[in-house]
Amino acid sequence: MSKTQNTSASAPAGTGPAKSRRRFLKDAAGVAGGAGLLALGTGLYSRQASALPATAIRPPGALAEADFLAACVRCGLCVRDCPYDTLKLAVLGDSVATGTPYFEARRIPCEMCEDIPCVAACPTGALDRGLSEIGEARMGLAVLIDQENCLNFLGLRCDVCYRVCPVIDKAITLELVHNPRSDRHAMLLPTVHSDACTGCGKCERSCVLPGESAIKVLPLRLAQGSKAEHYRRGWEEKAEAGGSLIGDQLEMPVRGLEGKAYGDTRVGPGEAPAAAGKPGIDSGWKP
Ligand code: SF4
Ligand code: SF4
Ligand code: SF4
Repeated sequence: MSKTQNTSASAPAGTGPAKSRRRFLKDAAGVAGGAGLLALGTGLYSRQASALPATAIRPPGALAEADFLAACVRCGLCVRDCPYDTLKLAVLGDSVATGTPYFEARRIPCEMCEDIPCVAACPTGALDRGLSEIGEARMGLAVLIDQENCLNFLGLRCDVCYRVCPVIDKAITLELVHNPRSDRHAMLLPTVHSDACTGCGKCERSCVLPGESAIKVLPLRLAQGSKAEHYRRGWEEKAEAGGSLIGDQLEMPVRGLEGKAYGDTRVGPGEAPAAAGKPGIDSGWKP
C-alpha cells in the first residue's frame, strides 16, 4: 500500500486530503454546471438573435442575414455616420443580434441619402459597397398589412403613405377600384410594387393610424413567398413567343348572353330573369 493511500484511508471523514478532494469535486461540478448553463444560454440567445424580428430592418446594402452576421464586426461606424439617427446598435436583451445595426421604420425611417454614408462607413463589406444607387437598396418590402383599418380601404381619402414615398408612383401606386359598400364611389388602394420599393419605411412612419401602421416594412423573407416555378405563366410565355402557343381561344356562344361581347357575363338591371319572390339574380334554370 502506498503512503498516499495509507494517509488517505486513515484520515478521518471531513478532514485532510479526503475533504480537499470532495471540495475539489464539488467545485469542479459547480464550474461545469455553470459553464453548461452559460453555453445553453448563449446557444439559445444566439439562436434567437440569428432570426431578425419583423420590425427590425437592416441598413441599405446589408448582405443576406447569415452573411451579414458573419461579416459585421459590430463596430458601429454605420450608426455613427447616419445623419438621421435612423440606425441603432442592438444591445444585450434586444431581439436583434447584439452589436449589429438595425432600424425600426415606425420610429425613424431611412432617409435614402444619395451618398449612402452608412455603406461608405462600413469597413468590412457587411454593407455592400457595390450599392451606389440608393434606389437599388432592398432593406425590406412595404406590405399593406391591415386592410380593415387602412382609411383608403374603407373608401376614405388618406393617401399619406403614397404621398410620402420617395419613389412615388413606382414603389406605391393608388389603384382605382369600385367601392362595393356605397356602390357609387371609388376606392384608391395603396399598392406596393416590389421591383421599386427600397424598404426605407417612410410609408410606415407616416401612416396616420394612431398606434400601429396599416402599412409595414417587413424583411423580404417575411414579405414575399417563394416563386411557384412549377407553374408556367401563360401571359409571359405568350409575350416571349410573340403570340399564343396554343392558338386562339374558341368562342362558344353562351345561352342568354348572345347579345353581349364574348366573356361579358355581367347582368344589367332588368336583364335577370324574374326571381320567384327572391332578391338577387336567379337564372331560372331547372334540371
Ligand atoms: S441611407 Fe442615410 S438615412 Fe438611410 S441608413 Fe444610411 S445613412 Fe441612415
Ligand atoms: S459599419 Fe459595417 S461592420 Fe460596422 S457595425 Fe455597421 S454593418 Fe457592422
Ligand atoms: S397612411 Fe395608413 S391609413 Fe392612410 S392610406 Fe396609407 S396605410 Fe392607409
